[in-house]
Amino acid sequence: MPPRGIGTGEEPVTLGLPRLRQTLQNPSERFQGLALHSGREAWLRLLPAEAGRGLLFVDAESGQEIPARTENLGDTSRQTQIHAGGRTLSTVEHLLSALAALRVDDVQIEVSGPELPIADGSAAPFIALIQAAGVTPHPSATAVEPLVLREPLLLTGAAGSSAVALPAPHFQATVALSYPNHPYLGHQIATFDAMTDDYASQIAPARTYGFLSEIEQLHARGLGLGASYDNALVLGETEYVTPPRFENELARHKLLDLIGDLALTGRPLHMHVVAVKPGHQLNTGLALLLSKL
Ligand SMILES: [Zn+2]
Repeated sequence: MPPRGIGTGEEPVTLGLPRLRQTLQNPSERFQGLALHSGREAWLRLLPAEAGRGLLFVDAESGQEIPARTENLGDTSRQTQIHAGGRTLSTVEHLLSALAALRVDDVQIEVSGPELPIADGSAAPFIALIQAAGVTPHPSATAVEPLVLREPLLLTGAAGSSAVALPAPHFQATVALSYPNHPYLGHQIATFDAMTDDYASQIAPARTYGFLSEIEQLHARGLGLGASYDNALVLGETEYVTPPRFENELARHKLLDLIGDLALTGRPLHMHVVAVKPGHQLNTGLALLLSKL
């Protein structure tokens, strides 16, 4: 049976109250693939972790630990990067989104390479990887306290982006995008309610996207070297270059990114986040604000 909403569907959710921390039942298979920006091969493997370890990346060669926490944030201009002890790791947001959505609180993520594999540009392959490893409450029955908002929080970002977090009994998100210069994209809105919507089928398959015209500019900056028709929704000036998976796939992907970036708070979020034209800078800015509450 597929999981419902943010969670495995096996554990009852008590709104606003602590729930048991969860980890993996078994180590995952090794997941290998191309990195989006460097174009190089990279791999990762998910391992069970003790209660309280959080979402912890570990360099497979040096053993350097890179906790996925707001205090380790690096560059967020086109992806979300974290760093610790001189080791940087890029494009962590899609895997973090899948882990947060399946309510994995503690996991060790072995990584090789400066960037995570991009897979098909979505979080669906990571959902499959996590589900195959299995999600289970810790035997120690350690609880995780959700972050419950007492009053609204407003954040204004660059390029017309903004976010408001509103008190709510469980996690909900709304993302709005607007492409006035590209009428075929128009206005896109995506919503997600952790109690009623299925992340795995509704949000995870939405792919990262880019305009064909931007690819050359990215290449000139040494970015997007691994981008292809197989790992991104490619956009033309007047029509899709590759067929979309949803009529609002762009907004759904931004919602996926938002969940991944907010996972850097390390806690379940019981609030409704509304984001307009969000990017990683806005998302991680909100994660930083929430981390300080
Ligand atoms: Zn993304």
